[in-house]
Amino acid sequence: MSTSSGEQAFNNVRKLINDVCNRMNIAEACRLRLMECERELIVHFPVRMDAGTVEVFTGFRLVHNDTRGPGKGGIRYHPDVTLDEVRALAALMTLKTAVANIPYGGAKGAVICDPKALSQSELERLTRRYTAEITLLIGPETDIPAPDMGTNPQIMAWIMDTFSMGRGYSVPAVTTGKPLEVGGSRGRFEATGRSCMISALLSAKHLGINAGEATVAIQGFGNVGAAAAKLLAREGFRLIAISDSKGGVYNPKGLALEGLLAQKKETGSIIGFKNAETITNAELLELRCDILVPAAIEHQLVKANTSSVKAKVIIEGANGPITPEADRILGDNGIFVVPDILANTGGVIISYLEWVQGLQFLFWDEAEVNDHLQKILTKAFAEVLQTSQQEKVDMRIAAYMIALRRLATAMALRGIFP
Ligand code: NAD
Repeated sequence: MSTSSGEQAFNNVRKLINDVCNRMNIAEACRLRLMECERELIVHFPVRMDAGTVEVFTGFRLVHNDTRGPGKGGIRYHPDVTLDEVRALAALMTLKTAVANIPYGGAKGAVICDPKALSQSELERLTRRYTAEITLLIGPETDIPAPDMGTNPQIMAWIMDTFSMGRGYSVPAVTTGKPLEVGGSRGRFEATGRSCMISALLSAKHLGINAGEATVAIQGFGNVGAAAAKLLAREGFRLIAISDSKGGVYNPKGLALEGLLAQKKETGSIIGFKNAETITNAELLELRCDILVPAAIEHQLVKANTSSVKAKVIIEGANGPITPEADRILGDNGIFVVPDILANTGGVIISYLEWVQGLQFLFWDEAEVNDHLQKILTKAFAEVLQTSQQEKVDMRIAAYMIALRRLATAMALRGIFP
């Protein structure tokens, strides 16, 4: 029987957790606990559609582990999302929050739906009913959702409002990634792109690459890819290629980002951009460049195409864009990979800062938020790099080692109830 990509993704995370636990002699009880999600809620719920009909949707909310703090993780709206995919993403969140050393566990949620095919009022009714169904898990002290693919700040505002109606008072800290007007944090929109930029700068420094002379190719022109492009360009990197789901554009002399953003807004696509050659997503991944940022979807670098990668550094903006086989090839070829659980933690770090601000009802300016992000990520990067050098392992294994050590220590200190 063939395994689905969600199943494959969950197996990949579990295998790596397993291997690293064995390598570090981590307690068996800890390893076993991390093989499964602690709580898995599946809901089937009705939504009244604009045409007057009723449709039943399926959604999930899972907490993978909450030893180090409340569950934390996004909600995905996608027609093909599966329970296993959500399990894999929840497990990655447990590792991410541990690498960044923020006081959270890992969680994730999803609804199987095509948000683009729903009207705003259908989307609102679906979101409010899904929130009501998962209210037994979520809360500012238990499990805090955030946006992921297919969801956005407006959806976080509806979740916060629905949850607050149940409590009878406003609970801004129940979600993060909210609009500023209802308790969002400054800096959230660009946060994940910012952590990609910081990771690229720190990698360039480590490898002796001059940012002012370095070239960058980015796959994906959404929240992560577009913000990373803007911030990397601001640091002096030359953006030579970028793509979306329809394909990419390439100019070795550099692409004008403002023009690209304007064209995407106007036509919905970047294809045909002036002074640039049209390329496929496959070609983009194989371009000669210093830094490659896969910031679209999972499993983009696989066994078949990875030997052709010419970048010196890969910054994983997306979750799981490199398969384990591809990872080995990149390692053999000496390509420096900053793994997703480090490179794209900007979103969850600023989510943490939003939650802290929401709990205190005290909001900071953008410089203060970005300063906290910079400090947390720079420390995490230095710890992972140091472990990688000391233990002679790649950055992904080093990040897993740090996360699993923190999880094992926390589990041992808390013990097992009863
Ligand atoms: P998004 O929906 O805003 O953007 C995704 C981009 O990828 C779009 O430009 C889309 O056109 C492109 N794309 C889709 N399918 C593609 C394909 N087959 N080939 C090439 N490009 C394709 O999503 P996002 O929020 O930018 O998230 C991107 C990735 O980053 C996901 O893996 C997500 O889980 C991960 N991530 C996002 C955040 C965040 O804060 N948004 C945080 C951590 C990780």
